[in-house]
Amino acid sequence: MSSAKGKIARLLGGMLLQSAKVASAEDTGGFRRIVLKTNLPKPRAGTKVQVLLPSDDMRTYSPIASPEGFVLLGWKHAGGPGSRWLSEVQAGAELRFFAPQGSLELSEGPVVVVGDETSVAVAASFEVERQGQVQVVLQAGSVDDVRRAAEAVGLSRVSAIQRGETERLVEAALAAHKAAPEAVFALSGGSELVATIRNALRARGVRNIKTKTYWVPGKTGLD
Ligand SMILES: Cc1cc2nc3c(=O)[nH]c(=O)nc-3n(C[C@H](O)[C@H](O)[C@H](O)COP(=O)(O)OP(=O)(O)OC[C@H]3O[C@@H](n4cnc5c(N)ncnc54)[C@H](O)[C@@H]3O)c2cc1C
Repeated sequence: MSSAKGKIARLLGGMLLQSAKVASAEDTGGFRRIVLKTNLPKPRAGTKVQVLLPSDDMRTYSPIASPEGFVLLGWKHAGGPGSRWLSEVQAGAELRFFAPQGSLELSEGPVVVVGDETSVAVAASFEVERQGQVQVVLQAGSVDDVRRAAEAVGLSRVSAIQRGETERLVEAALAAHKAAPEAVFALSGGSELVATIRNALRARGVRNIKTKTYWVPGKTGLD
């Protein structure tokens, strides 16, 4: 179903929206990696783009700066029009979107990103700006898929934990923090995961935590 915001964006598109050409779109496991060609300034780490879908819905993704413009890495199994678009989009398509806007803003220095499939791209965006300073701990339905997708967007220090093994996820996050005690924790992804990990880390005395919820069960098109 189209959204009012999407319809207005399409009507006023010329004034409001930026556009980019899809240079390539490739599957990697349950993800799709989309390279976008544009002359816009490179998106900063932790920004978001709101994409106007062919269905006139708008969905939010995390741009990763690249030589061509930027890359989106989308999880194809979220379950709505965004996932359908991701699965179908091909090289040559034109993409319309609101220019990148701030979303997850972190102080300078090392980062431990904790999240789920929807957090891989934002972690990669920080790796572009802070090479070697980003550690990633991800909960996933398929740990192999998420590892491969992370590698495809330039991440190397990744722990992937099977969904449901929350205690292991917290331990992996704390181990990453031990390796870089000055790092800020950036928690993103589904609302339940973000709340659970934030509470578990606080209970262990961690204070330097930033959170950004990327989806909420039963709600559509969060941004
Ligand atoms: C700032 C920001 C940055 C984001 N960056 C990325 C990114 O880079 N890559 C990416 O893949 N996603 C990212 N997301 C998340 C993405 O926007 C949502 O997952 C979005 O809801 C997917 O759209 P959809 O149309 O497929 O599903 P919707 O129509 O929005 O939702 C359909 C149903 O599926 C549920 N749902 C939504 N997402 C998930 C999920 N991941 N797993 C399980 N159920 C889900 C909803 O709660 C709803 O019940 C980001 C979100 C925000 C707010």
